[in-house]
Amino acid sequence: MRELKCLRCSGDMSFIRREEFQLGRTGWLLGDLPNLVAGAMELDVYACPNCGKVELFTPDEPFEGGGLPQKKCPRCGNMIDFDYHRCPLCKYDFKTE
Ligand SMILES: [Zn+2]
Ligand SMILES: [Zn+2]
Repeated sequence: MRELKCLRCSGDMSFIRREEFQLGRTGWLLGDLPNLVAGAMELDVYACPNCGKVELFTPDEPFEGGGLPQKKCPRCGNMIDFDYHRCPLCKYDFKTE
C-alpha cells in the first residue's frame, strides 16, 4: 500500500482493493500500459474519498496512466509528484538541494 495524494484535489487516496483484471476486456483501460502480457493482471485500486477520482497502480510500481512522473523524498521516502517543490508529508524542501 502507498501513501497517495489525489492528483485532482490533493486529498488522501484510499486503498480499495487489489483486483485481477482480465486483459482484453479492459484494453480500453490499460491501453498505455507497457509490457502487456496475456491473461490476467493484478492492479491496486485506489480512490479519493473527496472527489471520487479512481486510479490504478501495478502492485510494484506506480502507474499513472500518463500522469505526472514521481520522485522519492530523500527524507521520508514518500513517492510524490515530480512537480512538488516540497514534500507534503515531511515538508522537505527540494529547492535547498
Ligand atoms: Zn480527490
Ligand atoms: Zn518527505
